Amino acid sequence: MPEQDFSGKTAIVTGAASGIGAVVAEELAARGAHVIVSDLNDGEAAEVADRIRASGGTADVCAADVSDADASRRLVEFAQEKGGGLHLAVNNAGIGGASELAGEYPLESWRKVIDVNLNGVFYGMRYQIPAMLETGGGAIVNMSSILGSVGFQNASAYVAAKHGVLGLTKTAAMEYAAKGIRINSVGPGFINTPLLSKNLDQEMLDGLAGMHPMGRIGSSEEVSALTCFLLSDRASFITGSYHLVDGGYTSQ
Ligand code: NAP
Repeated sequence: MPEQDFSGKTAIVTGAASGIGAVVAEELAARGAHVIVSDLNDGEAAEVADRIRASGGTADVCAADVSDADASRRLVEFAQEKGGGLHLAVNNAGIGGASELAGEYPLESWRKVIDVNLNGVFYGMRYQIPAMLETGGGAIVNMSSILGSVGFQNASAYVAAKHGVLGLTKTAAMEYAAKGIRINSVGPGFINTPLLSKNLDQEMLDGLAGMHPMGRIGSSEEVSALTCFLLSDRASFITGSYHLVDGGYTSQ
């Protein structure tokens, strides 16, 4: 049985300065990957890379705004230069957006959320896929959400973008399945990260916890475990699908 060993492989993780992305970057590095830690700003990403190196792993930092197609191309070129090719990618960067009814949703926030959470995933794959073809194959995980399959009031832009990620993932997976690239999406329930804690008070967090049959929100480590499995050779027959890690949220 192949292990989850990423030795000799180079991985891009976007939104890797914080939350889920930081934990995924650290787990991939602990499992042997050379990780390109990417985020909007390189300050906090550098701290993640320092932690990786301090634990004996290898990492480089590349600031990139995923909603900028040119920046996404340069990020892939950086990975090729530093890592000798690209094998793995986690398109994880995301934002929440305004909390408003669809009939009142601020257009600027709609455009921003679609730009980062949906266009950002497309721009990532647009350049990651050709790079992976050059190295003979690879694996991609696109970070969706439970809100990739169910609605959530006052979050139309986020929900639309995360649903879009599923369609994009399925289509690209079919196109590259026979060419050695597996592409899947992950759907976390509510996860304890700065995305939640910087926007919600404790009462709201408790309310979200109660929406999961397990009675709690999840951890970045729980999302990272699934993500790393999907990137690994243990998931060799898994592509084009959507994998929930949601404490039962969508089973209701
Ligand atoms: P997080 O802690 O806020 O981390 C996201 C990181 O992405 C932040 O460092 C953020 O930088 C960065 N980022 C934002 N816009 C970017 C851009 N345009 N280009 C590059 N990086 C950018 O959030 P998280 O909770 O770990 O979320 C990670 C992913 O999981 C997102 O796609 C999110 O939608 C998804 N997700 C989260 C939850 C949850 O409950 N936490 C549930 C389901 C899905 P700044 O801090 O500077 O904005």
